[in-house]
Amino acid sequence: MKLGIVGLPNVGKSTLFNAITNAGAESANYPFCTIDPNVGMVAVPDYRLDKLSEMYNPKKTTPAVIEFVDIAGLVKGASRGEGLGNKFLANIRMTDAIVHVVRCFDDENVIHVEGSTDPIRDMDTIDLELILADAEMVDRRIDKAQKAAKGDKKFLHEVEVFSGLKEWLNDGKSARSYLSEVSEDDAALIGTSELLSLKPVIYAANLDEDGFADPQAVPYYKQVEERAQAEGAQVIPVCAKLEAEIAELDAEEKAMFLEELGVKESGLDRLVKASYTLLGLISYLTSGEDECRAWTITKGTKAPQAAGKIHSDFERGFIRAEVVSYDDLMACGTMAAAREKGLIRSEGKEYVVQDGDIILFRFNV
Ligand code: GDP
Repeated sequence: MKLGIVGLPNVGKSTLFNAITNAGAESANYPFCTIDPNVGMVAVPDYRLDKLSEMYNPKKTTPAVIEFVDIAGLVKGASRGEGLGNKFLANIRMTDAIVHVVRCFDDENVIHVEGSTDPIRDMDTIDLELILADAEMVDRRIDKAQKAAKGDKKFLHEVEVFSGLKEWLNDGKSARSYLSEVSEDDAALIGTSELLSLKPVIYAANLDEDGFADPQAVPYYKQVEERAQAEGAQVIPVCAKLEAEIAELDAEEKAMFLEELGVKESGLDRLVKASYTLLGLISYLTSGEDECRAWTITKGTKAPQAAGKIHSDFERGFIRAEVVSYDDLMACGTMAAAREKGLIRSEGKEYVVQDGDIILFRFNV
């Protein structure tokens, strides 16, 4: 699961991306992750894993991670191939969701490509590039469906659905916003295309230090918030410059730093959590003297498939899952006490794993 960081030049994308790589999770533990200078991995903050780790004091604590891709170079005209346009659009296509960084700070030393700070104009500019690129793709899809319809009439419906979408895109509206206009089946059909404006979005409003301490007092931020609300999207205030500094601190220093600023959580932590949720991801936990670890699954995953995240043998030979909820374990203090109280459940193949479940899998080898 990957998120692409997009935005106009000089809005703070690279700075935010640097914060991500500074905060970087050790890549050795995550063999499935891409090794690429434009891809950064960041740990998903999880207080439950922290507590579990305090309880077990294991040799190793391994958080869940998500990947961010720095997609630089999206400019006005990218969909027409300006700048390195098409290449960047192709990079976005490979992501599961988008973090759109919007500049919400004034700084005369940092040139704005359009000459002034104007978050709504910037959001429109980026959106429009994605929508124009999509319109082109939809054209090709319609052509293909039309040809196919000559042999098989059932493709006429596809022509109709994508033609409707094309008109929508031509009005400058995102494919995402079209889904609620059509039937579930048609929405699913549209979902088979790799459209950019279909991807879920989180807005990262990049503020300066003062603004970050009190975003509600920043008119730029309010504009982004209002716009995001209208789209049903989330906006997270960040200060990319600060995030890059915070990411280098240890946990204690970080807590002190944030307290001084008067904020509970760093922007990056909030952004990572929101991204995780946006992708429909949850974590279950495993615990032991060797390792406490959070494992990523999509919501709705059943126990055998969740076990398969650890090892394919666990899925193949799955017998049952011994599950205790985080709250129950904490209330009891130890695993043994939870067992005595009968709070460790034995769950079978059909069990849908819940966020924060602490699990021991039993399996045949
Ligand atoms: P990108 O082109 O979007 O990747 O932008 P960069 O991350 O390279 O940032 C462009 C410039 O803006 C750099 O000089 C940064 O130091 C500066 N910058 C980034 N974030 C902030 C911020 O939160 N406040 C201020 N004042 N400057 C920032």
